[in-house]
Amino acid sequence: MTEKALPSILIVDDVEANLIGLEATLSSMACRMVRATSGNEALKLLLKREFALILLDVQMPEMDGFEVASFVRQHPQTKNIPIIFLTAMNQAEANELQGYGTGAVDYLLKPINPHILRGKVRVFLELETERRRLAEEIESHRRTSDELRNTNAALRHFTHAASHDLREPLRVMGNFLDALDEEAGANLSPEARHYLDRSRSACGRMSSLLDALLIYAKLQRPRAFTEVDMTAAAERAIADLSIRIKAQNASVELAPLPPAKGDTERLYQLFLNLISNGIKFARPGESPRVRVYAETTAQGKPIYVVEDHGIGVAEKHRETIFQAFNRLNTREAYEGSGLGLAICGQIVEQHRGKIWVTSESARGSKFCFSLGE
Ligand code: ADP
Repeated sequence: MTEKALPSILIVDDVEANLIGLEATLSSMACRMVRATSGNEALKLLLKREFALILLDVQMPEMDGFEVASFVRQHPQTKNIPIIFLTAMNQAEANELQGYGTGAVDYLLKPINPHILRGKVRVFLELETERRRLAEEIESHRRTSDELRNTNAALRHFTHAASHDLREPLRVMGNFLDALDEEAGANLSPEARHYLDRSRSACGRMSSLLDALLIYAKLQRPRAFTEVDMTAAAERAIADLSIRIKAQNASVELAPLPPAKGDTERLYQLFLNLISNGIKFARPGESPRVRVYAETTAQGKPIYVVEDHGIGVAEKHRETIFQAFNRLNTREAYEGSGLGLAICGQIVEQHRGKIWVTSESARGSKFCFSLGE
Protein backbone atom coordinates (compact mmCIF):
# COMPACT_ATOMS: atom_id res chain seq x y z
CA MET A 1 0.00 0.00 0.00
CA THR A 2 1.37 3.44 -0.87
CA GLU A 3 1.65 6.09 1.84
CA LYS A 4 -1.30 7.95 0.27
CA ALA A 5 -3.47 4.85 0.13
CA LEU A 6 -2.89 4.04 3.82
CA PRO A 7 -5.96 4.60 6.00
CA SER A 8 -5.71 7.63 8.30
CA ILE A 9 -6.44 7.78 12.01
CA LEU A 10 -7.34 11.05 13.67
CA ILE A 11 -5.94 11.30 17.19
CA VAL A 12 -7.50 13.99 19.31
CA ASP A 13 -6.05 15.05 22.64
CA ASP A 14 -5.27 18.45 24.16
CA VAL A 15 -2.15 17.10 25.86
CA GLU A 16 0.85 16.92 23.51
CA ALA A 17 2.53 14.19 25.55
CA ASN A 18 -0.53 11.95 25.10
CA LEU A 19 -0.47 12.47 21.32
CA ILE A 20 3.20 11.52 21.21
CA GLY A 21 2.46 8.43 23.31
CA LEU A 22 -0.37 7.32 21.00
CA GLU A 23 1.77 7.87 17.89
CA ALA A 24 4.59 5.81 19.39
CA THR A 25 2.22 2.99 20.31
CA LEU A 26 0.72 2.85 16.82
CA SER A 27 3.92 3.56 14.85
CA SER A 28 4.24 -0.06 13.70
CA MET A 29 0.73 -0.14 12.19
CA ALA A 30 -0.13 0.32 8.54
CA CYS A 31 -1.81 3.69 8.91
CA ARG A 32 -1.15 7.41 8.86
CA MET A 33 -1.73 9.43 11.99
CA VAL A 34 -3.11 12.94 11.97
CA ARG A 35 -3.13 15.02 15.16
CA ALA A 36 -5.71 17.43 16.51
CA THR A 37 -5.23 19.23 19.82
CA SER A 38 -8.82 20.41 20.23
CA GLY A 39 -12.36 19.42 19.32
CA ASN A 40 -12.61 22.31 16.87
CA GLU A 41 -9.44 21.37 15.05
CA ALA A 42 -10.65 17.75 14.90
CA LEU A 43 -13.95 18.74 13.27
CA LYS A 44 -12.19 20.90 10.67
CA LEU A 45 -9.85 18.03 9.74
CA LEU A 46 -12.73 15.56 9.59
CA LEU A 47 -14.50 17.64 6.96
CA LYS A 48 -11.33 18.02 4.88
CA ARG A 49 -10.28 14.39 4.46
CA GLU A 50 -11.22 10.77 4.99
CA PHE A 51 -10.50 8.96 8.25
CA ALA A 52 -10.75 5.29 9.07
CA LEU A 53 -10.94 5.89 12.83
CA ILE A 54 -10.95 8.59 15.50
CA LEU A 55 -9.11 8.16 18.80
CA LEU A 56 -10.84 10.73 20.95
CA ASP A 57 -9.81 11.95 24.38
CA VAL A 58 -12.93 12.54 26.47
CA GLN A 59 -11.60 15.24 28.78
CA MET A 60 -10.70 18.33 26.78
CA PRO A 61 -11.28 22.02 27.52
CA GLU A 62 -13.85 23.98 25.44
CA MET A 63 -15.36 21.06 23.56
CA ASP A 64 -15.08 17.66 25.22
CA GLY A 65 -14.89 14.30 23.43
CA PHE A 66 -18.61 13.61 23.71
CA GLU A 67 -19.49 16.93 22.07
CA VAL A 68 -17.05 16.20 19.23
CA ALA A 69 -18.60 12.74 18.83
CA SER A 70 -22.08 14.19 18.69
CA PHE A 71 -21.06 16.58 15.84
CA VAL A 72 -19.34 13.70 14.04
CA ARG A 73 -22.48 11.56 14.25
CA GLN A 74 -24.73 14.37 13.00
CA HIS A 75 -22.74 15.20 9.89
CA PRO A 76 -23.53 12.99 6.86
CA GLN A 77 -19.89 13.04 5.74
CA THR A 78 -18.52 11.80 9.06
CA LYS A 79 -21.38 9.93 10.71
CA ASN A 80 -20.01 6.46 9.92
CA ILE A 81 -16.44 6.98 11.14
CA PRO A 82 -15.76 4.68 14.11
CA ILE A 83 -14.69 6.35 17.35
CA ILE A 84 -12.61 5.00 20.23
CA PHE A 85 -13.01 7.18 23.31
CA LEU A 86 -9.96 7.45 25.57
CA THR A 87 -11.44 7.80 29.04
CA ALA A 88 -10.48 7.92 32.70
CA MET A 89 -13.98 6.51 33.24
CA ASN A 90 -15.26 8.51 36.18
CA GLN A 91 -18.93 8.00 36.98
CA ALA A 92 -20.12 10.81 34.67
CA GLU A 93 -18.14 9.45 31.74
CA ALA A 94 -19.34 5.93 32.39
CA ASN A 95 -22.96 7.13 32.23
CA GLU A 96 -22.38 9.05 29.03
CA LEU A 97 -20.62 6.13 27.38
CA GLN A 98 -23.50 3.83 28.13
CA GLY A 99 -25.70 6.11 26.06
CA TYR A 100 -23.64 5.27 22.98
CA GLY A 101 -24.45 1.59 23.13
CA THR A 102 -22.46 -0.61 20.80
CA GLY A 103 -21.54 -0.37 17.12
CA ALA A 104 -18.95 1.93 15.65
CA VAL A 105 -18.04 3.23 19.11
CA ASP A 106 -15.60 1.74 21.56
CA TYR A 107 -13.61 2.99 24.53
CA LEU A 108 -10.24 2.48 26.17
CA LEU A 109 -9.44 3.11 29.80
CA LYS A 110 -6.62 5.40 30.77
CA PRO A 111 -3.78 4.73 31.34
CA ILE A 112 -3.84 3.19 27.90
CA ASN A 113 -2.60 -0.38 27.58
CA PRO A 114 -0.58 -0.43 24.31
CA HIS A 115 -1.51 -4.06 23.47
CA ILE A 116 -5.21 -3.41 23.85
CA LEU A 117 -4.96 -0.15 21.87
CA ARG A 118 -3.14 -1.87 18.98
CA GLY A 119 -5.61 -4.77 19.06
CA LYS A 120 -8.64 -2.48 18.82
CA VAL A 121 -7.08 -0.24 16.16
CA ARG A 122 -6.16 -3.31 14.09
CA VAL A 123 -9.79 -4.45 14.04
CA PHE A 124 -10.99 -1.05 12.82
CA LEU A 125 -8.22 -0.85 10.21
CA GLU A 126 -9.17 -4.27 8.89
CA LEU A 127 -12.78 -3.12 8.67
CA GLU A 128 -11.66 -0.07 6.74
CA THR A 129 -9.58 -2.16 4.30
CA GLU A 130 -12.59 -4.39 3.70
CA ARG A 131 -14.88 -1.37 3.26
CA ARG A 132 -12.49 0.10 0.67
CA ARG A 133 -12.26 -3.24 -1.16
CA LEU A 134 -16.04 -3.47 -1.32
CA ALA A 135 -16.36 0.14 -2.45
CA GLU A 136 -13.83 -0.50 -5.25
CA GLU A 137 -15.68 -3.65 -6.28
CA ILE A 138 -19.01 -1.82 -6.38
CA GLU A 139 -17.43 0.99 -8.40
CA SER A 140 -15.90 -1.47 -10.84
CA HIS A 141 -19.27 -3.25 -11.27
CA ARG A 142 -20.93 0.10 -11.82
CA ARG A 143 -18.36 1.05 -14.48
CA THR A 144 -18.75 -2.32 -16.23
CA SER A 145 -22.51 -2.05 -16.21
CA ASP A 146 -22.35 1.56 -17.53
CA GLU A 147 -20.02 0.43 -20.32
CA LEU A 148 -22.30 -2.49 -21.13
CA ARG A 149 -25.33 -0.24 -21.21
CA ASN A 150 -23.56 2.17 -23.56
CA THR A 151 -22.31 -0.62 -25.82
CA ASN A 152 -25.79 -2.13 -25.91
CA ALA A 153 -27.38 1.19 -26.75
CA ALA A 154 -24.80 1.78 -29.52
CA LEU A 155 -25.37 -1.72 -30.90
CA ARG A 156 -29.11 -1.28 -30.91
CA HIS A 157 -28.78 2.10 -32.54
CA PHE A 158 -26.60 0.55 -35.23
CA THR A 159 -28.97 -2.41 -35.71
CA HIS A 160 -31.91 -0.04 -35.98
CA ALA A 161 -30.19 2.24 -38.49
CA ALA A 162 -28.78 -0.64 -40.54
CA SER A 163 -32.06 -2.55 -40.75
CA HIS A 164 -33.84 0.65 -41.72
CA ASP A 165 -31.33 1.56 -44.42
CA LEU A 166 -31.18 -1.97 -45.83
CA ARG A 167 -34.92 -2.08 -46.40
CA GLU A 168 -34.87 0.40 -49.25
CA PRO A 169 -32.36 -1.37 -51.56
CA LEU A 170 -34.06 -4.65 -50.70
CA ARG A 171 -37.43 -3.25 -51.72
CA VAL A 172 -35.90 -2.04 -55.03
CA MET A 173 -34.36 -5.47 -55.63
CA GLY A 174 -37.72 -7.17 -54.98
CA ASN A 175 -39.48 -4.78 -57.37
CA PHE A 176 -36.96 -5.43 -60.15
CA LEU A 177 -37.26 -9.19 -59.64
CA ASP A 178 -41.04 -8.84 -59.99
CA ALA A 179 -40.58 -6.71 -63.12
CA LEU A 180 -38.18 -9.27 -64.57
CA ASP A 181 -40.70 -12.02 -63.93
CA GLU A 182 -43.45 -10.04 -65.62
CA GLU A 183 -41.28 -9.06 -68.57
CA ALA A 184 -39.50 -12.31 -69.28
CA GLY A 185 -41.02 -14.87 -66.89
CA ALA A 186 -42.85 -16.76 -69.60
CA ASN A 187 -39.71 -17.30 -71.67
CA LEU A 188 -37.36 -18.40 -68.89
CA SER A 189 -35.66 -21.78 -69.04
CA PRO A 190 -36.44 -24.05 -66.03
CA GLU A 191 -32.98 -23.29 -64.68
CA ALA A 192 -33.43 -19.51 -65.01
CA ARG A 193 -36.91 -19.78 -63.40
CA HIS A 194 -35.33 -21.65 -60.48
CA TYR A 195 -32.75 -18.86 -60.03
CA LEU A 196 -35.42 -16.19 -60.15
CA ASP A 197 -37.65 -17.97 -57.62
CA ARG A 198 -34.75 -18.49 -55.26
CA SER A 199 -33.75 -14.83 -55.51
CA ARG A 200 -37.29 -13.74 -54.67
CA SER A 201 -37.56 -16.06 -51.70
CA ALA A 202 -34.15 -14.82 -50.46
CA CYS A 203 -35.51 -11.27 -50.69
CA GLY A 204 -38.56 -12.33 -48.66
CA ARG A 205 -36.36 -13.96 -46.01
CA MET A 206 -34.14 -10.94 -45.75
CA SER A 207 -37.17 -8.71 -45.39
CA SER A 208 -38.51 -10.83 -42.46
CA LEU A 209 -35.06 -10.82 -40.91
CA LEU A 210 -34.91 -7.01 -41.11
CA ASP A 211 -38.40 -6.81 -39.56
CA ALA A 212 -37.29 -9.02 -36.68
CA LEU A 213 -34.07 -7.02 -36.27
CA LEU A 214 -36.04 -3.80 -36.08
CA ILE A 215 -38.33 -5.22 -33.39
CA TYR A 216 -35.28 -6.50 -31.49
CA ALA A 217 -33.49 -3.14 -31.75
CA LYS A 218 -36.53 -1.19 -30.59
CA LEU A 219 -37.04 -3.40 -27.55
CA GLN A 220 -34.58 -1.66 -25.28
CA ARG A 221 -36.51 1.59 -25.10
CA PRO A 222 -38.38 1.68 -21.81
CA ARG A 223 -42.15 1.95 -22.02
CA ALA A 224 -44.93 2.55 -19.53
CA PHE A 225 -46.57 -0.44 -17.86
CA THR A 226 -50.35 -0.70 -17.55
CA GLU A 227 -52.86 -3.38 -16.60
CA VAL A 228 -52.83 -5.77 -19.58
CA ASP A 229 -55.69 -8.04 -20.58
CA MET A 230 -53.56 -11.09 -21.43
CA THR A 231 -56.49 -12.97 -22.98
CA ALA A 232 -57.07 -10.06 -25.37
CA ALA A 233 -53.33 -9.87 -26.18
CA ALA A 234 -53.27 -13.59 -27.06
CA GLU A 235 -56.54 -13.30 -29.01
CA ARG A 236 -55.06 -10.50 -31.10
CA ALA A 237 -51.96 -12.58 -31.83
CA ILE A 238 -54.12 -15.53 -32.89
CA ALA A 239 -56.25 -13.27 -35.13
CA ASP A 240 -53.10 -11.89 -36.78
CA LEU A 241 -51.94 -15.46 -37.47
CA SER A 242 -55.31 -16.54 -38.92
CA ILE A 243 -54.04 -16.84 -42.52
CA ARG A 244 -51.25 -19.19 -41.42
CA ILE A 245 -53.57 -21.08 -39.09
CA LYS A 246 -55.94 -21.70 -41.99
CA ALA A 247 -53.19 -22.48 -44.49
CA GLN A 248 -51.66 -25.10 -42.19
CA ASN A 249 -54.99 -26.41 -40.95
CA ALA A 250 -53.84 -25.65 -37.40
CA SER A 251 -55.91 -25.50 -34.26
CA VAL A 252 -55.13 -22.88 -31.62
CA GLU A 253 -57.07 -23.09 -28.36
CA LEU A 254 -57.08 -20.22 -25.88
CA ALA A 255 -58.25 -20.48 -22.27
CA PRO A 256 -58.96 -17.27 -20.29
CA LEU A 257 -55.70 -15.83 -18.91
CA PRO A 258 -55.14 -13.77 -15.76
CA PRO A 259 -54.30 -10.10 -16.40
CA ALA A 260 -50.75 -8.78 -15.90
CA LYS A 261 -48.91 -5.51 -15.37
CA GLY A 262 -46.89 -4.69 -18.44
CA ASP A 263 -46.56 -3.27 -21.92
CA THR A 264 -49.56 -4.40 -24.02
CA GLU A 265 -47.79 -4.21 -27.39
CA ARG A 266 -44.82 -6.23 -26.20
CA LEU A 267 -46.90 -8.87 -24.49
CA TYR A 268 -48.91 -9.22 -27.70
CA GLN A 269 -45.56 -9.65 -29.55
CA LEU A 270 -44.55 -12.31 -27.02
CA PHE A 271 -47.71 -14.36 -27.69
CA LEU A 272 -47.35 -13.77 -31.43
CA ASN A 273 -43.82 -15.21 -31.51
CA LEU A 274 -44.59 -18.19 -29.25
CA ILE A 275 -47.84 -19.15 -30.97
CA SER A 276 -46.36 -18.72 -34.45
CA ASN A 277 -43.45 -20.99 -33.44
CA GLY A 278 -45.96 -23.52 -32.09
CA ILE A 279 -47.62 -23.56 -35.50
CA LYS A 280 -44.35 -23.51 -37.46
CA PHE A 281 -42.52 -26.30 -35.66
CA ALA A 282 -45.19 -28.95 -36.24
CA ARG A 283 -44.19 -32.49 -37.17
CA PRO A 284 -44.04 -33.06 -40.90
CA GLY A 285 -47.39 -34.22 -42.21
CA GLU A 286 -49.27 -33.32 -39.00
CA SER A 287 -51.66 -30.41 -38.42
CA PRO A 288 -50.26 -28.09 -35.75
CA ARG A 289 -52.08 -28.04 -32.41
CA VAL A 290 -51.38 -25.20 -29.99
CA ARG A 291 -52.91 -24.50 -26.59
CA VAL A 292 -52.56 -21.21 -24.70
CA TYR A 293 -53.48 -21.31 -21.02
CA ALA A 294 -52.27 -20.33 -17.55
CA GLU A 295 -51.10 -22.31 -14.55
CA THR A 296 -50.63 -21.07 -10.99
CA THR A 297 -47.57 -21.61 -8.82
CA ALA A 298 -47.81 -22.69 -5.18
CA GLN A 299 -47.37 -18.99 -4.29
CA GLY A 300 -50.37 -18.06 -6.44
CA LYS A 301 -48.32 -16.51 -9.25
CA PRO A 302 -49.58 -17.02 -12.82
CA ILE A 303 -47.47 -18.89 -15.36
CA TYR A 304 -48.55 -18.33 -18.97
CA VAL A 305 -48.14 -21.36 -21.20
CA VAL A 306 -47.99 -21.86 -24.97
CA GLU A 307 -47.95 -25.59 -25.63
CA ASP A 308 -47.67 -27.45 -28.93
CA HIS A 309 -47.45 -31.01 -30.19
CA GLY A 310 -44.66 -30.35 -32.63
CA ILE A 311 -41.06 -31.47 -33.02
CA GLY A 312 -40.06 -30.50 -29.44
CA VAL A 313 -36.80 -29.01 -28.17
CA ALA A 314 -34.03 -31.37 -27.06
CA GLU A 315 -32.95 -30.94 -23.44
CA LYS A 316 -29.47 -29.65 -24.37
CA HIS A 317 -30.90 -26.74 -26.39
CA ARG A 318 -33.50 -25.59 -23.91
CA GLU A 319 -31.42 -22.71 -22.52
CA THR A 320 -29.57 -21.59 -25.64
CA ILE A 321 -32.61 -21.20 -27.89
CA PHE A 322 -33.41 -17.88 -26.21
CA GLN A 323 -30.16 -16.40 -27.54
CA ALA A 324 -30.25 -14.45 -30.80
CA PHE A 325 -29.64 -16.37 -34.05
CA ASN A 326 -29.75 -19.75 -32.37
CA ARG A 327 -31.59 -22.04 -34.78
CA LEU A 328 -31.76 -25.78 -34.38
CA ASN A 329 -33.26 -26.64 -37.75
CA THR A 330 -32.14 -26.04 -41.30
CA ARG A 331 -33.65 -23.17 -43.22
CA GLU A 332 -34.94 -25.63 -45.78
CA ALA A 333 -36.98 -27.46 -43.13
CA TYR A 334 -38.32 -24.41 -41.24
CA GLU A 335 -38.05 -20.77 -42.31
CA GLY A 336 -37.03 -18.23 -39.67
CA SER A 337 -34.77 -15.45 -38.51
CA GLY A 338 -33.50 -17.00 -35.28
CA LEU A 339 -34.61 -13.84 -33.45
CA GLY A 340 -38.15 -14.77 -32.36
CA LEU A 341 -37.24 -16.33 -29.02
CA ALA A 342 -34.49 -13.77 -28.34
CA ILE A 343 -37.22 -11.13 -28.67
CA CYS A 344 -39.40 -13.16 -26.27
CA GLY A 345 -36.50 -13.40 -23.81
CA GLN A 346 -35.93 -9.63 -23.91
CA ILE A 347 -39.63 -8.86 -23.45
CA VAL A 348 -39.90 -11.16 -20.45
CA GLU A 349 -36.70 -9.71 -18.98
CA GLN A 350 -38.10 -6.20 -19.35
CA HIS A 351 -41.09 -7.38 -17.34
CA ARG A 352 -38.70 -8.81 -14.72
CA GLY A 353 -40.05 -12.28 -15.45
CA LYS A 354 -38.68 -15.63 -16.59
CA ILE A 355 -39.17 -17.73 -19.70
CA TRP A 356 -38.34 -21.39 -20.12
CA VAL A 357 -39.28 -24.42 -22.18
CA THR A 358 -40.08 -27.95 -21.08
CA SER A 359 -41.29 -31.06 -22.81
CA GLU A 360 -43.61 -32.97 -20.57
CA SER A 361 -44.31 -35.74 -22.99
CA ALA A 362 -41.84 -36.87 -25.60
CA ARG A 363 -43.90 -34.87 -28.08
CA GLY A 364 -44.05 -31.14 -28.41
CA SER A 365 -42.88 -28.25 -26.30
CA LYS A 366 -44.31 -26.20 -23.51
CA PHE A 367 -43.09 -22.59 -23.47
CA CYS A 368 -43.83 -20.98 -20.10
CA PHE A 369 -43.29 -17.47 -18.86
CA SER A 370 -43.92 -15.52 -15.68
CA LEU A 371 -44.01 -11.73 -15.34
CA GLY A 372 -42.83 -9.57 -12.45
CA GLU A 373 -40.47 -10.68 -9.69
P1 ADP B 1 -36.86 -18.91 -35.68
O1 ADP B 1 -37.00 -17.65 -36.44
O2 ADP B 1 -35.87 -19.86 -36.22
O3 ADP B 1 -38.18 -19.53 -35.35
P2 ADP B 1 -36.72 -18.50 -32.87
O4 ADP B 1 -35.79 -17.62 -32.10
O5 ADP B 1 -38.17 -18.22 -32.79
O6 ADP B 1 -36.20 -18.42 -34.34
O7 ADP B 1 -36.45 -19.98 -32.42
C1 ADP B 1 -35.13 -20.45 -32.34
C2 ADP B 1 -35.09 -21.94 -32.57
O8 ADP B 1 -35.74 -22.60 -31.48
C3 ADP B 1 -35.85 -22.36 -33.79
O9 ADP B 1 -35.06 -22.28 -34.95
C4 ADP B 1 -36.22 -23.79 -33.43
O10 ADP B 1 -35.14 -24.64 -33.71
C5 ADP B 1 -36.43 -23.76 -31.92
N1 ADP B 1 -37.87 -23.60 -31.57
C6 ADP B 1 -38.53 -22.47 -31.27
N2 ADP B 1 -39.81 -22.69 -30.97
C7 ADP B 1 -39.99 -24.01 -31.09
C8 ADP B 1 -41.12 -24.91 -30.91
N3 ADP B 1 -42.32 -24.45 -30.55
N4 ADP B 1 -40.91 -26.22 -31.12
C9 ADP B 1 -39.70 -26.68 -31.48
N5 ADP B 1 -38.61 -25.93 -31.67
C10 ADP B 1 -38.74 -24.60 -31.47
